[in-house]
Amino acid sequence: MKTAITGGAGFIGSHLTEYLLAAGDEVAVLDDLSTGSLDNLQEAFKNPNFRFVEGTILDRAAVDSVVAGADRVFHLAAAVGVKLIVEDPLTSLRTNIHGTEVVLDATLAAGAVLLLASTSEVYGKNTSDALSEESDRILGSALKSRWTYAAAKGIDEAFAYAYWKEYGLRAAIVRLFNTVGPRQTGRYGMVVPNLVGQAQRGEALTVFGDGRQTRCFSYVADVVPALVKIAENTEAYGKAFNLGGTNEISILDLAERIVELLDSPSTISLVPYEQAYAPGYEDMRRRVPDNTKARELVGFNPKTTIDQIIANVAQGTPAGMVRSSSSPELAGA
Ligand code: UDP
Repeated sequence: MKTAITGGAGFIGSHLTEYLLAAGDEVAVLDDLSTGSLDNLQEAFKNPNFRFVEGTILDRAAVDSVVAGADRVFHLAAAVGVKLIVEDPLTSLRTNIHGTEVVLDATLAAGAVLLLASTSEVYGKNTSDALSEESDRILGSALKSRWTYAAAKGIDEAFAYAYWKEYGLRAAIVRLFNTVGPRQTGRYGMVVPNLVGQAQRGEALTVFGDGRQTRCFSYVADVVPALVKIAENTEAYGKAFNLGGTNEISILDLAERIVELLDSPSTISLVPYEQAYAPGYEDMRRRVPDNTKARELVGFNPKTTIDQIIANVAQGTPAGMVRSSSSPELAGA
């Protein structure tokens, strides 16, 4: 297989790159290194089947340089991270809407399969138990920059769906729910690397709001194989699939678990949202996936516990190794 990955130098993209190289694919990555890093691709660069192009998805020629001749395209490049989106909503809108259109056109021209990485953020403030792919989207005001990411990703999904329906593009959509693991950076707000780093440095863990908001964290090594299986399944085209963790945890409980597991001297500090982000910032209280569709189609059954996730994030994963819950290294973690 010839595979192109946009955003392949990022957290999830680099794990996917290693996974597909190990499976024998030729992998070409396009990344503008805005939030991704070449460090994440150290192992990949050792493989003769790997090719890297530095460039943006806004540039059709750059996109074509990895997509032309590919059998499948994993479109992971995006402006991500709540902090980044709130600070620079324009980048999010431009990259995530126009960039996706460029990737869709290039994939169509190449006659390749497309897997679009979307997000649980599209459900917005819908706190239902549990969110299925057909659930309503409840977004805050378009003038609140937090929601520009959800708005842009919703448009991306609609684009992918329309390309499938009108042009026959074999496009599948995945909605990722708080995917976490080694290599994810805390720089753009993501809570697990942030809190683990604070605990390791002995700093106070910054829990935003009252800490009672909940998430279902999923481990990158559980998610990556599902991305590939969904892309390969002809029943997946024209549809969206939730991929999330199975255990709901409040951010306060997460912080307490991190302090305990890492045996850290850190305290936990509640930080008001307006101090953490900006006045008027809105968070979602709860986000719980219904994974039934992905389980039924490709057997998605995430097993890695939050304790294992914390241990692996704290330790970092040696480059080139994608750990799964069945990895012997995890025994006793
Ligand atoms: N959060 C926190 N402390 C941090 C970073 C994030 O309490 O240092 C909170 C954040 O407000 C949210 C949750 O943790 O309620 C998850 O945040 P993240 O940005 O990781 O993901 P998302 O908001 O997209 O679910």
